[in-house]
Amino acid sequence: MSGIKLWWIEGAFTILLLLVPGNLGWGKEGHYATCKIAESAIKSRTHGNYDKKILDCLTLEYFDLGKSSIRIDQNLFLANQSFLSEEALKAVKELVPESAEGDLASVCSWPDEIKHRYNWRWTSELHYVDTPDFRCNYDYCRDCHDSSGVKDNCVTGAIYNYTEQLVTGYNSSNSLVKYNLTEALMFLSHYIGDVHQPLHVSFTSDEGGNTITVRWYKRKTNLHHVWDSDIIESAMKTFYDKDLDVMISAIEKNITDKWSNDISSWTNCTSGDEVCPDPWASESIKYACNYAYRNATPGTTLGDDYFLSRLPVVEMRLAQGGVRLASTLNHIFDSTPSIAHKLAYFGNIQPTCDTAST
Ligand SMILES: [Zn+2]
Repeated sequence: MSGIKLWWIEGAFTILLLLVPGNLGWGKEGHYATCKIAESAIKSRTHGNYDKKILDCLTLEYFDLGKSSIRIDQNLFLANQSFLSEEALKAVKELVPESAEGDLASVCSWPDEIKHRYNWRWTSELHYVDTPDFRCNYDYCRDCHDSSGVKDNCVTGAIYNYTEQLVTGYNSSNSLVKYNLTEALMFLSHYIGDVHQPLHVSFTSDEGGNTITVRWYKRKTNLHHVWDSDIIESAMKTFYDKDLDVMISAIEKNITDKWSNDISSWTNCTSGDEVCPDPWASESIKYACNYAYRNATPGTTLGDDYFLSRLPVVEMRLAQGGVRLASTLNHIFDSTPSIAHKLAYFGNIQPTCDTAST
């Protein structure tokens, strides 16, 4: 009897959790878009220069090794028609669960689906990072901890952690490395999306806008949900034929067109590491202050003015998330020796010159 009661209570609790708007990250559509952009095709073959520019940014080490390497890799790139390198694409297909049928985007929301389950509750605070109210800045050492103060338990800490797991686990022949690389890939892909949602790096006291009740046109919602889902859903209805794929194509066109000159700064990790979530988080809190919180105090009705001025920010953050996810995965799964290895082996890193032309 008590067992039945307990089951019922747990069931009711689960339903309650499902009804409480939580810190979800981008909604399903946003995460799908980020991952799809990372793995999807460059549509326009006519933009040869833009393609090459983007390629150079995504394969920095080849770029430093001289012209012949760039040419070889560009061919790979054009053959794949993907932001992901051949190695990364192969690794992703190998690691995603069988049910995904090789498509990373289809499992990008998995960390949101499991985070309230008993065994996975520890992951629920890895989707965001809280920053001090009204400071509009982010600092890893100050901010990256969970609500109990445990260090590194936040979205940027999780991005470092799962990158390290994939780098050491995938390239290691050491059987003692016991990471679950399938989970690591799904967590990393999801959290890179989350850190680009401005209200995932935002004020502590309003829980990233979750406690700010507003109206989205006529419907009651909260500010966090507006940025997770409402802006994207309204954009699909208003501009993209209610079709997420049409919206993703439009964002991809902007990447190869309007934003092509920005890609190198988007993918530039100044620290030289595989991944750099800290500057991405710093950008997010700035967008939260300048766009998300602005003119959105509790009780406000948000309509056309807010929607049309914030949509470009949302679309750019989805694009940045996708391009940076691809760049990170390319660095993680790159099987070519690093510059340091090449230097140790050959004694120099000068371009290999074509003797026929000298
Ligand atoms: Zn999330």
